[in-house]
Amino acid sequence: MTEQETEIRTFEDLGLSKFVLAAIREMGFEEPTAVQRMTIPPALKSRDLIGQAQTGSGKTAAFMIPILERLDPRLKKVQALVMLPTRELAIQVAEEAGKMGKYSGMRCVPVYGGQPIDRQIRALRFGAQVVIGTPGRIQDHLQRSTLSLEDVRVAVLDEADEMLDMGFLEDMESILSKAPVERQTLLFSATMPPEIKRLAQRFLRDPLHLSANPDRMTVEQITQIYYEVPERDKLEALSRILDVESPKVAILFCRTKRQVDELAGALEARGYRAEALHGDLSQQQRDRVMRQFKEGKVELLVATDVAARGLDISNVSHVFNYALPQSPEDYVHRIGRTGRAGKGGIAITFVTPQEYRDLHLIQRVTKTTLKRGSLPTREQSLDKQKENIKEKVKKVIDNQGALSYEPLVMELLKEADAGAIAAAALKLALEGLGSAERNPGDELAAQGKDGTTRLFFSIGREHRVSPQEIIRMLSENAQVSGKVGEIRIFDRFTFVEVPSEEAEKVIGSLHRSNVKGTRLNVSHARARN
Ligand code: ADP
Ligand code: MG
Repeated sequence: MTEQETEIRTFEDLGLSKFVLAAIREMGFEEPTAVQRMTIPPALKSRDLIGQAQTGSGKTAAFMIPILERLDPRLKKVQALVMLPTRELAIQVAEEAGKMGKYSGMRCVPVYGGQPIDRQIRALRFGAQVVIGTPGRIQDHLQRSTLSLEDVRVAVLDEADEMLDMGFLEDMESILSKAPVERQTLLFSATMPPEIKRLAQRFLRDPLHLSANPDRMTVEQITQIYYEVPERDKLEALSRILDVESPKVAILFCRTKRQVDELAGALEARGYRAEALHGDLSQQQRDRVMRQFKEGKVELLVATDVAARGLDISNVSHVFNYALPQSPEDYVHRIGRTGRAGKGGIAITFVTPQEYRDLHLIQRVTKTTLKRGSLPTREQSLDKQKENIKEKVKKVIDNQGALSYEPLVMELLKEADAGAIAAAALKLALEGLGSAERNPGDELAAQGKDGTTRLFFSIGREHRVSPQEIIRMLSENAQVSGKVGEIRIFDRFTFVEVPSEEAEKVIGSLHRSNVKGTRLNVSHARARN
């Protein structure tokens, strides 16, 4: 940052027109963000720029403000072209641009796949100064000659790394080569892979490199926690965390569309308000999901990386990596959905015992340490649910919402007292109808007796381990202080009951340690049956 730019504190300091200032004030922006302070002054002076900044740092205004200031509202020609990776982003950025340009007399038109092209053609014909779209659809319009780039003065590549990942490199190049050479080009990207640098070398002229926070990739205010959870226990683990944390608005990331559908379905079956978001949905379905999510009618959005790319959803309290992302860069993109515009957030990552290498890579690339969390016990999550159900029961009574069940209660009262009936009904409501058949105690896979948790150790008789040795490992290496329960040694493995509150600690300190020349695996045991 130069001396002059460090002095910039307010939007007024940037020397913006009264039209833009009024619009920004209405949007509730109090002062420019770091990226905006850095990029707006040189961008206003027509410099080409490469801006690297994490998601949520305010890049949209960083390029829209200079665009609005530099264009001529009287000229009804396309003077600015913004390329971005997804239709959601096109809609979102166009919305934000519309608000910012409210008093500048500039028309912004989004063009993206999934919307009838005729409507876009009409909108373009009407005369737009700013076109915001995905490379594929922009190409389409260029081929039909329904869009001309002859008068483009500013071209923007937003989320350039994402566009690259989505295979838009050729489209981007072809589009840029059709815009006048003497234009200004602004490139924004959360990461700077070599292909982006090459693209910049070809299409940007003597660009300034700006980076809002050069060596830390993640947002500082985000609390990052990981849990070791075997694949088969993920749903149960997630439910417990959701019960205890009760996030208001959360995004859950899965790796595949199928996993998204399955998880959203499973969560709904468990009584959460969850919706799926992925590329197979129609545009209407996606719009509906996004609307419900923004209006707070959906608390959990289950999504693939692609579907959630660049979406600006504010107030996300939790991001869950139900499945690990493909790369550390994706991790940064994912957790950037929370903690937006300086607010704190929580990122929770599930790591299976086989995925520790990926976890280390994430930590190395992002230069942060994820804190290991211990899962809430079944009791803790049930306690939380019990707290919540009181209010719900009262509400049903107030609304007289259960009158049709009263004859049934009358019948049951002949056999049991009111307290026992009500308690049984609550149990069925919280633990499911299936819980009627279960005995207390065998409900959770890895639940041992008396507050212990059953763990699986990958060593057994064949490795000549003795109960004494296991106990020694627990007390010396894992510092277990509570009472150890049953230890059952089999040929190749051993079940060990450890105090539940110390189970995660045992896994953390013994898993992958070297015992008798073999790499020890320690994990939660499966259900008995
Ligand atoms: P990015 O493109 O860097 O991911 P966005 O431009 O989508 O970030 O901005 C993230 C959020 O922050 C949006 O809701 C936006 O309205 C808000 N925002 C941007 N600039 C400011 C500002 N100066 N003050 C307050 N909020 C802002
Ligand atoms: Mg953005």
